[in-house]
Amino acid sequence: MKTVCVVGASLAGLLTARALRGQGYAGRLVVIGEETHRPYDRPPLSKDYLKGVIGEADLALEGDGEDPAIEWRLGVAATGLDAAARRITLSDGTSIAADGIVIATGAAARRLPGTEGLRGVHTLRTLDDARALRGDLETAGRLVVIGGGFIGAEVAATARELGLDVTLVESGEAPLAGVVGLTMAHALAELHEKRGVRLIRGAYVTEVTGTGRADGVRLADGTHLPADVVVVGIGATPSTGWLEGSGVELGDGVVCDEGGGTSVPGIVAVGDCAAWFDPALGRHHRIEHWTGARQRATVAAATLLSGGTARPEPARPAYFWSDQFDVKIQFIGHARDADTVTVEEGDPAHNSFLAVYRQGDRPVAVLGVNQVRLFTRWRRHLETAPAQTG
Ligand SMILES: Cc1cc2nc3c(=O)[nH]c(=O)nc-3n(C[C@H](O)[C@H](O)[C@H](O)COP(=O)(O)OP(=O)(O)OC[C@H]3O[C@@H](n4cnc5c(N)ncnc54)[C@H](O)[C@@H]3O)c2cc1C
Repeated sequence: MKTVCVVGASLAGLLTARALRGQGYAGRLVVIGEETHRPYDRPPLSKDYLKGVIGEADLALEGDGEDPAIEWRLGVAATGLDAAARRITLSDGTSIAADGIVIATGAAARRLPGTEGLRGVHTLRTLDDARALRGDLETAGRLVVIGGGFIGAEVAATARELGLDVTLVESGEAPLAGVVGLTMAHALAELHEKRGVRLIRGAYVTEVTGTGRADGVRLADGTHLPADVVVVGIGATPSTGWLEGSGVELGDGVVCDEGGGTSVPGIVAVGDCAAWFDPALGRHHRIEHWTGARQRATVAAATLLSGGTARPEPARPAYFWSDQFDVKIQFIGHARDADTVTVEEGDPAHNSFLAVYRQGDRPVAVLGVNQVRLFTRWRRHLETAPAQTG
């Protein structure tokens, strides 16, 4: 290969570029990124960066002095792909042909229809989003967060720590129930309520009110929640619009085999945009977590450089962490495969516990809350028996 083009200049893109060099690729390496920033880390955007504890320089993903000889094309989006010719068209009117292509365009925050152009309404995906939200929170008194996923729960926690009056509106029975299951989600909800977050469950938002600037949120039952700032945390969608009609198969993200190979030879996909086949689950599965992007970059690089013949390591169960207040939440596996969940260490009432999810007597997932050492042991156990987690 003479030219490899990585589309997406963030975690998955940078790590795959690094892995390509690490695996001996010495040709031209172009990285295209829609944002103007060099690769930065997103997890702190809802935590320490939003809190003001760290600054932008602390977010850099590139190491000091690191030089994988990348040709950066930043501030330019890929707008289309001719997969047969492996030619990418760009938003500046130019195009670039490559022998190998890495799709690493991640995901974009879902927006709430009807809030376009309303000041004080935020989503949180990019550094620019975080800058704007941080600025708005400085002068705000009341925050309403719509959606109790990770980003919503983390923003709610951070804003509470900043002293704001915070209301979290969740359409389900408890935030994070889709991921950790209902029983444990109730335990995590208490963490928020004990620290003063007002949690409204089973509620649907019909409207963000205000003219020019948001002044509140209306619920389906007519309740009006006054707000100076509204954060919409209702999930993310894979950024694959530029691949429509390209010949690369799309489903919930780019459909990939278990090594990241797409339906087109010479094109791999990795990170939040990619739905890799997981043999343990027997289906394609898109992971929107930091560790997923990290673990798969090496495999995707090997797949590309070997022409698809590299044998990937067995897939590891999905792992993520989340920091909310003074609590580190860690989770591995799939709660929905479990018949039972039991607290095996600590006590949810003391914000320190470990819960094991089992299908029959087989552990399929583990939740740790301020239990880093014990969780690490369980994580190792589940990772070395990946075929048993599906
Ligand atoms: C606020 C926040 C907090 C998080 N906290 C955690 C956490 O605590 N734990 C955890 O496990 N995970 C967390 N995550 C998830 C984690 O950050 C993501 O899984 C990770 O960033 C995925 O990396 P990626 O490179 O696949 O995608 P992204 O980081 O989304 O990067 C994709 C890049 O591609 C660019 N792009 C998109 N379309 C185009 C195009 N057409 N042309 C060129 N470039 C394009 C985008 O601008 C972006 O820069 C968090 C995410 C956010 C947003």
